[in-house]
Amino acid sequence: MDPAIRLLRDLVAIDSVNPTLVPGAAGEQQIADTIAAHMRRIGLDVAVEIVAPGRPNVVGVIEGRAKGRSLILCGHTDTVGVAGMRDPFTPVERDGRLYGRGSQDMKGGVAAMIDAARVVAERGLDRGRVIVAAVVDEEHSSIGADALVRTWRADGAIVTEPTDLAIAIAHKGFAWVQIDVHGRAAHGSRPRDGQDAILRLGRVLGKLEALDTALQRAAPHALVGTGSLHASIIEGGRELSSYPDRARLQMERRIRPGEPESAAITEVKAIIDALSDDDPTFRAEARATFSRPAYEVPAGHDLPITLAAALETAGTAARTVGASFWADSAVLGGAGTPSVLFGPGGAGLHSSEEFVIVEEVLRCRDVLVDTARRFC
Ligand SMILES: [Zn+2]
Repeated sequence: MDPAIRLLRDLVAIDSVNPTLVPGAAGEQQIADTIAAHMRRIGLDVAVEIVAPGRPNVVGVIEGRAKGRSLILCGHTDTVGVAGMRDPFTPVERDGRLYGRGSQDMKGGVAAMIDAARVVAERGLDRGRVIVAAVVDEEHSSIGADALVRTWRADGAIVTEPTDLAIAIAHKGFAWVQIDVHGRAAHGSRPRDGQDAILRLGRVLGKLEALDTALQRAAPHALVGTGSLHASIIEGGRELSSYPDRARLQMERRIRPGEPESAAITEVKAIIDALSDDDPTFRAEARATFSRPAYEVPAGHDLPITLAAALETAGTAARTVGASFWADSAVLGGAGTPSVLFGPGGAGLHSSEEFVIVEEVLRCRDVLVDTARRFC
């Protein structure tokens, strides 16, 4: 069996469900121990960095014989939960696919990048530096990538998230906003005394729908399309025969490259100001609760060009795409390491049947080896 697939099977067999996402879940300690031992065996210089209790990042380094450029290969070791899966941690290979939780998202990519490091270490690196990072918590709030970039920087990074072997050079960001609308409680029979917070929140919803329409009609980004928003969670009211004194909306705005993370809170505050001007009794406030930026590699950067050349040499047509989902590459990119996504394909990520295409894990590994040689 190919060593990349043997490693992939070992990783899928370890429960590494994210414990922030699923309270009480196993977390990344055991998979980090396995990866650290494996990296030492294949000759990497290994550092284990505790990000939170029981949640270590593992970083392996290969130094070149001469000075050159540095390349980070990065993947996350956590997975989403396993509800509804019959046998999530038993890797099963069938019809060229390897099934199991995390096989596609993203233990396939993690196995490919670690096995690429094995080949690079065996052959020896002429120049530069390859840094292989297995980080925690991408599926929740990326505390692993945040910790990684405090210590590690490079001339480029490849995050091996599943892209069907396409090179993703841009992806959207997101921002969450909480809106509280105030009313005045009163008996349901006394309209002069009450102010209906829920109907007043309806005024905000009408404006948000118009904003979403405008966002989606704007000229799209060539790779990721337009911004958008949706009303995610709504709550308010206390009982049937009373005017509701409060209503709360939690919403999400997806952000395209070029838009700031603050776009959402700025837009919502403008809506509230306009509604207050129309009606002095309208009272509401908004606050930004969490956001992550959109990201795009600078046009003409050498990393995607080098990766494309390595793909073509391996006999695979290079495709440059954008990703709609957010990924750790924005954290690396934001900290000054230009980053792309490139990893093996499959299907069923975050669902009850997940698989990765075995042949694409191997091709990803081979292309990463060639890219490290050309880029460093
Ligand atoms: Zn992922």
